[in-house]
Amino acid sequence: MSTQNSLNELVNLFNLIEDYYIEGFHRHHSDVESVEQEVDPENQLSEINNEISSCRKCGLFKERHNTVPGEGVINPLVMLIGEGPGADEDRTGKPFVGRAGIYLDSWLKAIDLNRSENCFIGNIVKCRPPDNRDPLPEESSACLPYLQRQISLIRPKAIMTLGRIATQILTGEKSGIGALRGRIYSYQGIPLVPTYHPSAVQRNTSLRGAVWQDLQELRSILQDG
Ligand code: SF4
Repeated sequence: MSTQNSLNELVNLFNLIEDYYIEGFHRHHSDVESVEQEVDPENQLSEINNEISSCRKCGLFKERHNTVPGEGVINPLVMLIGEGPGADEDRTGKPFVGRAGIYLDSWLKAIDLNRSENCFIGNIVKCRPPDNRDPLPEESSACLPYLQRQISLIRPKAIMTLGRIATQILTGEKSGIGALRGRIYSYQGIPLVPTYHPSAVQRNTSLRGAVWQDLQELRSILQDG
């Protein structure tokens, strides 16, 4: 073999090694990027929101103006869960923005929480039940998987259910909220504290003391953890 041939072979060998490392790096790098995209909770949450926005799994889609998937931070201290959107929420697509929402914000503030910094707020059903009626069992069942996926994804430190419907559905109990509150439950391994719905407390201010106890319970769970 001539010296020139040997040199050519050596150059080819270096080119091959270079190609291997560059291609290997790009392949590895793009694999990492796509896995990161897959597991990015923000992306997955957007994916759930997209599914909800076109959902027709129950009859509530017929009269909605907007779906209300819920909103807040990933890994919140608390996920607050009501039963369903009202008129203001249906109009804006945002959870708890009417009078009850403003009142709920004052509850959060009382225990140093803030919906934009450390909470996620959602509902059992993502479309407004007509005339603010309770969601029917088949509507709640159809919509519940979205909530379950949201909870698994955002992993709140604690859950607070607001009112009878959300509490019954997530605890599996049948009693009224007056009997169900005052205890700590567990949902997907996350402590769950039930309390009254803010609208109910606005109608009946004698419930304020019980809500304050429930908020203290919630605060002590957050401090213990
Ligand atoms: S309430 Fe839930 S299940 Fe029913 S249409 Fe809306 S998003 Fe779908």
